Amino acid sequence: MYKNIQLLTMLDTVQNKSQLIDNFGRRVDYVRLSVTDRCDFRCLYCMEEDMNFLPRDQLLSLEELALIGRAFTELGVNKIRVTGGEPLVRNNVIKLFEDLGQLPGLNELVTTTNGSQLVKYAKSLKAAGVKRINISLDSLQKDRFREMSRVGELSKVMAGIDAALDAGFEKIKLNAVILKNQNHDEISDLVEFASARGMDISFIEEMPLGLTDGHDRKAAYYSSDHIKADLEKVFTLLPTTENTGGPSKYFKIAESETLVGFISPHSHNFCDQCNRVRVTCEGRLLLCLGQEHSVDLKPIVRSYPGDIDRLKQCIRDAMDIKPKGHDFNLEVKPVIFRHMNVTGG
Ligand code: SAM
Ligand code: SF4
Repeated sequence: MYKNIQLLTMLDTVQNKSQLIDNFGRRVDYVRLSVTDRCDFRCLYCMEEDMNFLPRDQLLSLEELALIGRAFTELGVNKIRVTGGEPLVRNNVIKLFEDLGQLPGLNELVTTTNGSQLVKYAKSLKAAGVKRINISLDSLQKDRFREMSRVGELSKVMAGIDAALDAGFEKIKLNAVILKNQNHDEISDLVEFASARGMDISFIEEMPLGLTDGHDRKAAYYSSDHIKADLEKVFTLLPTTENTGGPSKYFKIAESETLVGFISPHSHNFCDQCNRVRVTCEGRLLLCLGQEHSVDLKPIVRSYPGDIDRLKQCIRDAMDIKPKGHDFNLEVKPVIFRHMNVTGG
């Protein structure tokens, strides 16, 4: 009997050591890996028009990013999202996708992109093992798209979406940030567009990350409940239990196979379910999107190249400071000064 208890305790310790569990009992099995803070767009909710980007030598190399990805998968992470900035503007990024795609234990290698480079890269991403891809699309109107992205070209993104459809990903999901009096009148058009192409779509409430010079965030706030009410005038939304491991709450459009998700950091806080952490392109492990708690992994990967055990221990220890949740507040200036492109959306 005593021996059995000892064995169970040992097993428990081994299992816990190979898993990431924070002080609130939440298991972290999902990592968002940012590969660059740079981008070919300047979306007005994400960046300032005139942005300073990090000097290239401050970025982790692709090999260092791959090692971090490996360390996480050895700690029970089964989903990695490669993001940025715009991940597909990083030189040779496909090599990183290929390396991550071979990690045993990784069930899902996914990415989020603005779509501008997909004509060039969709097929290579699929071949590297990317199963699902998120493409950001805030407007179907050329001029408005340009206004919201400041420099982006809608035709390039549309061609990118077609290339992704041709490449045969398991699932493509559009992401749209909805701003009042900017694109809130396009909500049902965006759903029609997604549905006609067999894609899903998530609507995102804008988060107050970094200072932006383009608009007033409080005035532009358009809640998920508003979006849902607008959609219900046109479609029948059926509740689902769909869970893709992210913060989206999904409904199915009765008229098609399309899922509509709502990411509602303001109106429906999702922190109690949080299963993820982020690594910035400089190697800062961020324990929460809306707080500054972090651990710098760069000194470990630089001072002890290839020492995966040391890296894993550092990641394990970091779980102790994962905060309970964010407290976004549109009434005050952002307390988080990192922009979304630095955070790794
Ligand atoms: N460049 C890629 C893209 O736009 O898809 C990947 C990085 S981007 C930071 C990831 C997602 O974050 C995009 O869907 C974007 O719309 C969203 N995003 C950026 N800034 C945001 C903010 N302040 N609040 C909410 N979502 C934001
Ligand atoms: Fe670039 Fe994505 Fe930020 Fe837009 S949301 S500026 S595409 S990183």
